Amino acid sequence: MTTPLTPEDLHFEAQHIWHPYAPLPAKDPVYPVVAAEGATIQLADGRQLIDGMASWWSAIHGYNHPVLNQAAHQQIDAFAHVMFGGLTHQPAIELAKRLITLTPQALERVFLADSGSVSVEVAMKMARQYWQHRNLPGKHGFLALHGAYHGDTWGAMSVCDPVTGMHQLFSGSLPTQLFAPRPTSRFGGHFQNSDRDALETLLRQHHDTLAALILEPIVQGAGGMWFYHPDYLKAARALCDRYNVLLIADEIATGFGRSGRLFACEHAGISPDILCLGKALTGGYLTLAATLTTAEIAETLSNGTAGCFMHGPTFMANPLACRIACASIDLMQQSDWPAQVKRIERQLNQGLAPCQQLATVADVRVLGAIGVIELHTAPPLAEIQAALIEQGIWLRPFGRLLYTMPPFIIDDTQLTALTAAIYQVLSRLNAKQTP
Ligand code: PMP
Repeated sequence: MTTPLTPEDLHFEAQHIWHPYAPLPAKDPVYPVVAAEGATIQLADGRQLIDGMASWWSAIHGYNHPVLNQAAHQQIDAFAHVMFGGLTHQPAIELAKRLITLTPQALERVFLADSGSVSVEVAMKMARQYWQHRNLPGKHGFLALHGAYHGDTWGAMSVCDPVTGMHQLFSGSLPTQLFAPRPTSRFGGHFQNSDRDALETLLRQHHDTLAALILEPIVQGAGGMWFYHPDYLKAARALCDRYNVLLIADEIATGFGRSGRLFACEHAGISPDILCLGKALTGGYLTLAATLTTAEIAETLSNGTAGCFMHGPTFMANPLACRIACASIDLMQQSDWPAQVKRIERQLNQGLAPCQQLATVADVRVLGAIGVIELHTAPPLAEIQAALIEQGIWLRPFGRLLYTMPPFIIDDTQLTALTAAIYQVLSRLNAKQTP
């Protein structure tokens, strides 16, 4: 039972509590939530919003799911957490077994981290330490892609797009990494060899100093919601092999079905050397991430002077999160999620197509359960957010992008309402902005 928030509570929160990428004291309103169920979020004033965000790619089964709730209750009644140094537990073992089975065959060693960004740090440290133990300490840099987003921690920020990304503020103090152009070949379009050539040029020139190429397979998320051609991913794998550079796939956003495949790497039939998972791993219930790698890399990490891989967070393999992650994966496997995602893809394609006609819209693209509308200019966030809420939907635009990645369980009626509201709000914006 939630006690109602008072105006004083809201004033306190606006003065003292940070929200993501927001000023403090806050300038824009935030909306108090009292309940969430299935694909709806209930605000304190009683309004029910259809959720088009799945809480940033994570709540794939919807909110307040009885199976996930039960898993949480069972684990919390046993124990919520114990340290992972020197101790272990069934939820971690069960989760690692599932992840090893689901991911490409060569990935069979698992590090259970506490957030997506940390799993990226872990992946980067693995790559760095691997070459050190192979007596190639000069291979310590990273190659990333323009348009990339890999998280908000220091190392992860260094491989986010340095120009258009959210972290350009820190450039100069972050480690300097190398960036390849964003692949221009669209998913579903023709593959341009120039994309591959640009990557090869950089690898040929710099492989001696590179530990790994890190990329988001197929879908570049927070750096621009761009879907690129699977042949680029195939080429990246082949080039990394040729130039002796590890490939890190950041599937934190794409993992667990979002792009139409269980993992986006499957669109290209490739296996990375290191894989990062997070977000939907616990069905959106708790923070947990995983970095998987090969036996050869794990052995090399353990054989060097340090004798181990140098990372171990306090909440590593949190049992509560692991137990819920197991339940979420089982739920997914019992469901026909590919059909759910196909259905969402079809409906997003249909429902968002009319937006293409609006002069304010630069591009509309859909892949799996992701729908993106790219505008020519960024709309006023607070205003468009309020207009969307008025229409009864929850979306959180950023920059020039209005996008949706709903829970997979969203029904047809809710989806129709979602896309109709998007069109409605954008039409009004269009009418305002075009004379
Ligand atoms: N990588 C990608 C591709 C992401 O989308 C995100 C989160 N938006 C992260 C890493 C960072 O994950 P977290 O927010 O859990 O630290």
